Amino acid sequence: MAKQRYCEECGVPRLLYRELTWRTNGTIIETKDPEHRMLFSESENLDGLFDEIEKIIGIPIEKFVIESKRRVAKDYLEKMIPSFVLRLLYTFRPGLIVDRMTLICEAHGYGKIQSSEVCKHTERGAYQATVIDHPYSILCYRGDNLGGMEASTRRDCTSRVTEVGDDKYLLELWAGNHPPELKERMKVREYPVEEGNIEFKRCSRCDTPLAVAAYDFNLDDGTIINPENGTRMAIFGPVGLEAVFTALEEELGDMIPETVIEAQKRYTREHFRVEDWVAGEEHLRRMIAMRGYGILKSYEADLEHFAATIHNPVVIPLIVGMAKGIFEKAMKIDSSVHEWSISEDGELRVNIRKE
Ligand SMILES: [Zn+2]
Repeated sequence: MAKQRYCEECGVPRLLYRELTWRTNGTIIETKDPEHRMLFSESENLDGLFDEIEKIIGIPIEKFVIESKRRVAKDYLEKMIPSFVLRLLYTFRPGLIVDRMTLICEAHGYGKIQSSEVCKHTERGAYQATVIDHPYSILCYRGDNLGGMEASTRRDCTSRVTEVGDDKYLLELWAGNHPPELKERMKVREYPVEEGNIEFKRCSRCDTPLAVAAYDFNLDDGTIINPENGTRMAIFGPVGLEAVFTALEEELGDMIPETVIEAQKRYTREHFRVEDWVAGEEHLRRMIAMRGYGILKSYEADLEHFAATIHNPVVIPLIVGMAKGIFEKAMKIDSSVHEWSISEDGELRVNIRKE
């Protein structure tokens, strides 16, 4: 009998409810590695966000995105799986790695892998090719796969993407003949994590919050869709995204966080509902926590301003952009003034007011 792919009660894919825990403190963690946080978040704005940043700063940023995601994926895999196991798997059962990657893609909303091919011996070295339909972000997907192949082969890898249809891409990876030079590991920001008291109504069978289970999880398409507005969601690590923004900021300066806030604000205004604002503090607290962005601790709102503190925040410019977008939409204004700061113990303060 085929393995049950979804929870019979709530319809969340088995791979997700077995691997992820929605905690009461506004974080989503990998159950086996509680330090590894995840987000359940709108994904179709990611490539749009990168495009927007390119437009504003006027230079291509593709290499920053791919490189940052590559390093995070590689570090993560090397931490989770001993390198000799990865090497053995790659040498003797490369198909297993590809099958696992396919399952992860489908359950996390990354898109549909249409075909994959692994050739260990070509003129250019080991080769891997996948065709993916509707990737959540082709740049992130490319970086994730590069990191995965480098961890498996212990070689420097190169990649190429070719669009082969409507939102369909061929990703090719080659492993070079030389092991990578010893590179410094990515510096990952430590998150001081506090406990919290969010009560989610949960599935009695798999424990996933019902607010999450309400989304349409479709393993056949590799998509997760919000049934209320049709937006696409994906489950991905905040560390990779923070690495992208940090690398851009180091190279291009302070304008990067503001650019991300602006791009996220525009997306939020287009896709979120005014009802999300009107529903009040408790609803907003759940919206933030369900996505894994932290826990709303204090909240103050009137027709002129919105102020909040959030504990356990991640990818802060996205949170600020989201808050700004919802506020402006609810107040029917085109722009607003914002300030944010983060304390040493990791508390985010956001203040947004009419101009
Ligand atoms: Zn369930």
